[in-house]
Amino acid sequence: MHKTYQHSSLAEADTTLNQILDIIVEGTWDWHADTGHVARNPGWYRMLGYETGSLQHDVFSWENIIHPDDYSRVIDNIDSFIKGAREDSCIEYRCKKADNSYLWVRDRARILSRHPDGSASRIIGAAEDIHQYKALQFELIEQNKYLRDGSITLENTLQQKACELEEKNRELKAKIREVEYVSNTDQLTEIANRKRFEEEIQQEISRAKRYKHPLSLAIFDLDLFKDINDTHGHGIGDQVLKNTADLVRSNIRSVDCFARWGGEEFTLIFPNMALENALQACEKLRKLIQQHEIEPGLSFTASFGVSLFQADDSFEDLLRRADDALYRAKDKGRNRVESQRGLPTS
Ligand code: GH3
Ligand code: MG
Ligand code: MG
Repeated sequence: MHKTYQHSSLAEADTTLNQILDIIVEGTWDWHADTGHVARNPGWYRMLGYETGSLQHDVFSWENIIHPDDYSRVIDNIDSFIKGAREDSCIEYRCKKADNSYLWVRDRARILSRHPDGSASRIIGAAEDIHQYKALQFELIEQNKYLRDGSITLENTLQQKACELEEKNRELKAKIREVEYVSNTDQLTEIANRKRFEEEIQQEISRAKRYKHPLSLAIFDLDLFKDINDTHGHGIGDQVLKNTADLVRSNIRSVDCFARWGGEEFTLIFPNMALENALQACEKLRKLIQQHEIEPGLSFTASFGVSLFQADDSFEDLLRRADDALYRAKDKGRNRVESQRGLPTS
């Protein structure tokens, strides 16, 4: 222990001690186990708002002012301390003030002397007012809890909103795909429609120009289709259109574009394919169509006109030459493939 004073007389030491105890803000106490007497300084009474010396000078007057919620914790602590297990003790608890409110204090104690069995015979202590510190601590704990709850709620809300947005996005994309499909697809045959075909051919023309690749186009028309409708009914006519679409679709390359041009006319783009090969491909399709039976004994045919893209061709030029060839195929008796006229010799 640090020695602040070296008094030469007991009376001098007493004076110093009592003066100090009179002015310090901490509340000191001094308990003698054998007599049960507790000496408290004026600071102790001041801290709790009592008149100096107004409480009984025993431990019971102290026990009586401990907050009921802290009581057993404080008593357990002092019990084990008195038994002599430790040299020092420090505990925080609430004490009832003169105005019946409670004050948080931090009470430090030290055993000054012991009985032969080791138990404390004299203990001194000092209690300090930690009320403001405690209030601030509780406030911070509350605020922290509030912030944590708040941030969790905010996080959940954000996450939920993000999920909802993602779902909406998915729905929107699906809707866009649906709209695109409908606007690009022929309802009856489920192949590309004229609009889609016109977009595709423009792209293929650009590509053929860029890479100087050959590009062939075919247009085919079902022969005497009106007769099929008239003889077998419109339903069978529709079936013929659907079967034709399925048959052709499954017998062309994946890069080829196949569309319903309108009525019983269909168009085909053969990217990177020379006229000769396009003619062969159409001949293969013509034969497949001819061999196909809608129902036993009911077959039909188609006539084809094929053209080859030439530099500076517009889509209309290319289509017109294929159409001319188709008319010639019809003129020549139908169920045949005709090539465009005036092919440049290569
Ligand atoms: P050609 O060999 O000269 O082409 O004779 P065609 O009878 O095929 O030609 P035409 O232009 O006289 O008749 C085409 C018929 O195709 C008339 C029309 O009713 C029919 N048609 C067009 N679209 C559809 C359709 O979606 N379903 C059905 N069932 N028939 C259709
Ligand atoms: Mg026809
Ligand atoms: Mg026609």
